Amino acid sequence: MNHDDLAHWSKRAADWIRAYHTGLRDRPVRPRATPGETAAKLPAQAPETAEPMDAIFADFEALVPGAMTHWQHPRFFAYFPANAAPASMLAEQLANGMAAQCMLWQTSPAGTEIEEVMVGWMRDALGLSPEFTGTIHDSATTATLSAILTMRERALGWAGLDEGLSGQPRLRLYASGQAHSSVDKAARLSGIGQANLVRVATDADDAMDPGALDAAIRADLAAGYRPAGLILCVGATGVGACDRIEETLAVARAHDLYTHVDAAWAGSAMICPEFRPLWHGIDGADSIVVNPHKWLGVQFDCSLQFLADPAPQVQTLGLRPDYLQTLGQAQVTDFNEWTVPLGRRFRALKLWFVLRAYGLEGLRARIRNHVAWAAEARDALAALPGVKIVTEPRLSLFSFALDDDARTEALLRRINDDGRIYLTQTRHAGRFVIRVQVGQFDCTRDDVMMIPTVVGALLD
Ligand SMILES: *Cc1c(COP(=O)(O)O)cnc(C)c1O
Repeated sequence: MNHDDLAHWSKRAADWIRAYHTGLRDRPVRPRATPGETAAKLPAQAPETAEPMDAIFADFEALVPGAMTHWQHPRFFAYFPANAAPASMLAEQLANGMAAQCMLWQTSPAGTEIEEVMVGWMRDALGLSPEFTGTIHDSATTATLSAILTMRERALGWAGLDEGLSGQPRLRLYASGQAHSSVDKAARLSGIGQANLVRVATDADDAMDPGALDAAIRADLAAGYRPAGLILCVGATGVGACDRIEETLAVARAHDLYTHVDAAWAGSAMICPEFRPLWHGIDGADSIVVNPHKWLGVQFDCSLQFLADPAPQVQTLGLRPDYLQTLGQAQVTDFNEWTVPLGRRFRALKLWFVLRAYGLEGLRARIRNHVAWAAEARDALAALPGVKIVTEPRLSLFSFALDDDARTEALLRRINDDGRIYLTQTRHAGRFVIRVQVGQFDCTRDDVMMIPTVVGALLD
């Protein structure tokens, strides 16, 4: 295959993609696939000789779409969205076509500079203080790991990087039980240890209790631990819990902790000023993560981390061996020093395309619709016999259940086997609940109102 063939097949692919997306409503959201089914259809070994693209493309059509969960389906209400607006796909195609590696300014001057400008555009669009700079990671998991590594090194006076952790004081991290598992993962991988991630009590609203945070830090200090950092959530994954940012950050500041706010999902909604009370006080955070690859329409992967001061993170993650020196360019940003991996994709391009192709007003209109339609779906579900709303909508996420866990779980199975909509579960206060989130880029009110229709039809 050469570049002439690529041009030919790219056009075929573009036509296929249009037909796929316009036909999604006719497909079940989740495939009726069984484990091992796809693998069994593939040859055991790679081919020794070249195969024609006709055959490869035909196999793609035959094997892949029917065995995929359709994340861009307008009735995907599971997990959180992983939206991919058409303008994002176009930008990604161009970035893939150039296939540049954006580790240094000089390996991708436009890549680096568009990333810097996009961080600024998004910071302003979200209403954050102009003090923030930032970078784009692959995922919130990496952003949170970067912040927690920074917490570790800042608390150790940057001794851990050289000396390792044995012999260092035992560090402590603080988060509520609502925090995402990426926080647990980072506590483990950073060498701080899961047992040193203190779960601070929450109130009836699932928000961290600032008094309990203060008490936990004081108890740890008295016991000889060294408190290192606080991780807060705005729109946590389970049921959308939001910590009280201003009050909890004030406690962290009084004890000189580094702070990271995980707004991976809900952060996108902050382009609408009316939702910003949910993260009131956010400008006091040291680090914030927002995933445009969830709700905003910029496809995976594109996770923005805002930093009040990049210096501690760069001091933690940056290394400059001789072969990565940028000769004669002292004033440029080499983003690999802000992140865990050295190699970096050109992720800023799709953010640039999406912000321009829809405009902030177009994106706000979508998010406002999703929030309004989620409230309508909540009311229609609440009116069904035996259905109880367990957590009220936070933005466009709420949860419901039947009177016992086994019946709720059986209902969820029936819903997802039906295929018209796709929902997932979580636990809240020990109870099995069905989550509903509305956020697919192109969903309509009718798509959303299919939720109470399907649930109503499948109640036993
Ligand atoms: C989705 C999510 C994450 C993890 O995001 P990745 O980008 O997939 O790593 C972390 N925190 C919250 C609140 C999330 O919703």
